[in-house]
Amino acid sequence: MVLSAMSGTTNALVEISDFIKNNKSTEALINIELLHKKYCLVLDELIEEPSLKKDVFDYVNTVFAFLKACTFKKHTELLYNQIVSQGELLSTYFFTKYLHQENVNAQLLPALDFMRIDKMNEPDDFYIQQNLQRIINEGGPAEIYVTQGFICLNAFGKIENLQRGGSDYTATIIGAAVKAEEVQIWTDIDGMHNNDPRFVENTYAISNLSFDEAAELAYFGAKILHPQTVMPALKANIPVRLKNTLDPKSYGTLISKDFKGEGIKAIAAKDGITAIKIKSARMLLAHGFLKKVFEIFEKHETSIDMITTSEVAVSLTIDNDSNLPAIIEELEKFSTVEIDNQQSIICLVGHLVVRHHETHRLFQVLQDISVRMISYGGSNNNISLLVNTNDKITALKSLNSYVFDYETT
Ligand code: ASP
Ligand code: MG
Repeated sequence: MVLSAMSGTTNALVEISDFIKNNKSTEALINIELLHKKYCLVLDELIEEPSLKKDVFDYVNTVFAFLKACTFKKHTELLYNQIVSQGELLSTYFFTKYLHQENVNAQLLPALDFMRIDKMNEPDDFYIQQNLQRIINEGGPAEIYVTQGFICLNAFGKIENLQRGGSDYTATIIGAAVKAEEVQIWTDIDGMHNNDPRFVENTYAISNLSFDEAAELAYFGAKILHPQTVMPALKANIPVRLKNTLDPKSYGTLISKDFKGEGIKAIAAKDGITAIKIKSARMLLAHGFLKKVFEIFEKHETSIDMITTSEVAVSLTIDNDSNLPAIIEELEKFSTVEIDNQQSIICLVGHLVVRHHETHRLFQVLQDISVRMISYGGSNNNISLLVNTNDKITALKSLNSYVFDYETT
């Protein structure tokens, strides 16, 4: 059992770390106090057995004393990583005690004893597998092993994490390391939806997705899954089942190597995209132009998501514009550059989407909004549209009616 932090905790810890960073220690202390109170209330109710209660409260008090001490420290990346790790350390400690109270033979395996990423920030599979096996053997048999999601050590042995929402990723990494039959992710929604429920009515959970379809959706904003979660499961061919804690009977979504059904299955959107148009007379009939462009992005460690070309220009998108000024400066040496901010990528995901006879329906969206770029034919699983973020909700709704309502009628 891989546990994430209790709801709201990691956000609260990030905020506390930000206050410390901005030398607002009073605000940090107030927030630490509030979070401490919240834990005391929950745990007072959850843990009844007196000796377990004492253990849990001692642990919680140590954690909050540590957080208070952090308000006097110099803010560093390491301090941030230490602060945000406390949510998972708390949840796993008290949940293991709770299981003991319920007479379950549960054992807590500290993630930092086996979960490690390498210099490329990739999970160190061999190390993880060896050390996980070692600590399981040392600890002896248990009905349930509990460990922290999200947190890990880096290649230098310092505490880090797998980025926000990373507990899912921990789960599939461990699933692959122990050759699990299935990884289940229990959350508070009944699976991956066919469209964004925040903006579109009558969305529904998709019962089956292939690994590729799920990976596309996770990257393009379906908030339910950390984008990298699917990779270890895909490599080890372990099905991943998404289930709803609030409605355990509902089927959820099963992600596996099997493709079920053709055509568009889901739509998702990603905001914060910048489009860059690079125009050059030198592109006409020339070769090597794209290479030159890509090299500039590579040099500035900026990855490109979408790309469309014409004979004299190329448009592409990035989701991280922190190195954009330097990139523009280099591009302008041989081309004119135009930037459009506040763009959103809308991605349509499914199986054989490009070939499917109903796919043309999506182009009806052009009647409702103007589309800045279209990427069609890049893969069997994805068609992407770039729109102004202001038009995103209209686009999601229109696409929903053109693509899905048609199917249900
Ligand atoms: N607690 C971490 C976060 O909120 C990891 C997770 O929830 O998966 O990002
Ligand atoms: Mg979470």
